[in-house]
Amino acid sequence: MSALFAPLSTAEIAELVHWRRHLHQEPELSLEEHDTQAWLLQTLAALGATDVRKVGGTGLALHFGRGETDRALLLRADMDALPVDEQTGLAFASRRPGHMHACGHDGHMACLLAVTKRLIAHGEAIAGHVIVAFQPGEEGGRGAVKMIEDGLLDGRWLDGRGPKVQAAYGLHLWSPLPVGVISCAAGPTMAAVDDFTIVVRGRGGHGALPHTADDAIVAAAHVVVALQSIASRRADPLEPVVVTVGSFHGGSAFNVIAEEVVLRGTARSFGKAVGEELPAWLTHIAQATAQAHGATAEVDYKRYTVALRNDPAMADRLARVAQATPGVTAVDRELRMMAGEDMAFFLDAVPGCFYFVGCGGPQAEPHHSPRFVVDEAALPIGVNVMLGAVTEFFGG
Ligand SMILES: [Zn+2]
Ligand SMILES: [Zn+2]
Repeated sequence: MSALFAPLSTAEIAELVHWRRHLHQEPELSLEEHDTQAWLLQTLAALGATDVRKVGGTGLALHFGRGETDRALLLRADMDALPVDEQTGLAFASRRPGHMHACGHDGHMACLLAVTKRLIAHGEAIAGHVIVAFQPGEEGGRGAVKMIEDGLLDGRWLDGRGPKVQAAYGLHLWSPLPVGVISCAAGPTMAAVDDFTIVVRGRGGHGALPHTADDAIVAAAHVVVALQSIASRRADPLEPVVVTVGSFHGGSAFNVIAEEVVLRGTARSFGKAVGEELPAWLTHIAQATAQAHGATAEVDYKRYTVALRNDPAMADRLARVAQATPGVTAVDRELRMMAGEDMAFFLDAVPGCFYFVGCGGPQAEPHHSPRFVVDEAALPIGVNVMLGAVTEFFGG
């Protein structure tokens, strides 16, 4: 099986970079990846892929393997870009104003294409099944859920004859890490993402006669401060929790007491138990604090994605593979963050590992920045680690 995981040739690296640059020029937003889907279909057909299906709306899946074994591994890349106006000045910058691959998902798709090409050419030695998934709507579209609903994990997506997925790998380019560094911590590595809106209602009036009104601005300001006690006083200090109020809108004039304020924010957590407590804590604090100031609070709380948990055994396997992969200079086992990631839904269903591939360094622009750039030297490393992980998974 050595041909499967041999380091990429110069020609293969050039093709990988060419794919990535094409995708970078044509970014599409979550759940609108129509052109990306069409281009992937065309490129996969040219590579000789069979068993390709549209899954999860604008997503795609394909399958390799033989029926004798039920070992089945999912490999996943996300497809969507962000509503960001690119300011990198790159020759292959976005051709679509206001749209940019500012998170590196263009690189993820290119890497998975390179893996797919190898599987088509040299995958005959794999004793089992590989399901390759291009997932739409990672940045707020819950595209993973759409793919799962279309039967990606239980085989319904492939006319009912798809294998039942047993494990999963995915990668994310990560600009704070230098090229050569792979990170795969065991356990929770990315947070559950919740989203809330609080409407604080008081009684408007004259700015000089506060005793005749109930000021929604003062009530809402106290709500914002009181919410900080969720992380500091309610949650177990050993459980990471973030509560951020990201927007505060109310009032219309300097001499008018506002009747209504709308707060929007996000809460993040790792632990299942603490995550389940958050809606009740937040609702109670918002309502009781508003009431203490003569106002009311109406809370709309949505749990958006689950926390991303790497299976400890799968993370250990990936770490061993990475350590033996050419180009990898260090394997980190610690990196965790309170950002969310849709891959969490797959890893909630099957054991797996989502690993980070260094593509920058400490001075690099952060993901989602209009100046975000990927050091393309990271791409073949991401591919080689994934090919190694596939080979190892099937006992090669
Ligand atoms: Zn992102
Ligand atoms: Zn991303």
